Amino acid sequence: MSSSTAKQSASRLRVLNRSDPALSADCDNCCGLCCVVLTLQRSADFAIDKPADEPCPNLDQNFRCKIHQGLREKGFPGCVAFDCHGAGQKVTQHTFAGEDWQSKPEIAAEMSHAFRIMWQLHLSLRYLTEALELPAASALHDVVRRATEEIEQLTLAAPEELLAVDIAAHKREVNALLWQVSETVRCSESPSLKEQATSER
Ligand code: SF4
Ligand code: SF4
Repeated sequence: MSSSTAKQSASRLRVLNRSDPALSADCDNCCGLCCVVLTLQRSADFAIDKPADEPCPNLDQNFRCKIHQGLREKGFPGCVAFDCHGAGQKVTQHTFAGEDWQSKPEIAAEMSHAFRIMWQLHLSLRYLTEALELPAASALHDVVRRATEEIEQLTLAAPEELLAVDIAAHKREVNALLWQVSETVRCSESPSLKEQATSER
C-alpha cells in the first residue's frame, strides 16, 4: 500500500459496532457480487444449479434481482437468508472504486476473489463486534478491539494487498480469539466452570 493510501485508510478507521451499516448488505451500492460469485445448488434453498463466477439468470443488467419480490415463492429462500455483512458494497465501492465486472470483464476474476476474502473479513468483524458488546468478556475487549481495527484496515487495503490475505490463517486467528471470548463468558456464568478452567491451565 502506498503511504498516501495508508494514510487515507487510517483516517477512515473506526471501531465498528455490530449495528454499523458498514456490516450490513447495501445492494444498491453493489454490482450483484453474491449473485455472480457464489455457487447455487438446486435444493430447498435454490431452484436452480449455477456454477461459481457466472451471473445468475435472474440478475438484470442493473444488478437487480428480477424476482426479488417473490424469492421464496419461486424457490430461492437461500437468497433471502444470505448476508454478505457489507462485503459486496465494500468491494464494489472501495476496493474497485465503483467499477464492475460487467463493464470491465477483465477485473471479474479479481473482484470475485476479493469478494470471497472480504466476505470472510466482514464475517469476522461481525462476530468480533458482537464480542465487544458482551460485558462478561470485558477483560478481552482491548485485544478484540485491536483485532477489529486490524481487520478493518485490511478491508480498506488496495486490491493487491487484499488478494494476498491468507484467509485460512486469518480464520484460525479469529476463531482462537472468539474461543477465548466464549470460554470467558461461560466461566463468568458458572463459577465451577471457572475453577475447572483455572485448574486446567
Ligand atoms: S454481495 Fe451483498 S451487497 Fe452485493 S448484492 Fe449480494 S447481498 Fe447485496
Ligand atoms: S435469484 Fe436473485 S438474489 Fe438469488 S442469486 Fe439470482 S439474482 Fe441473486
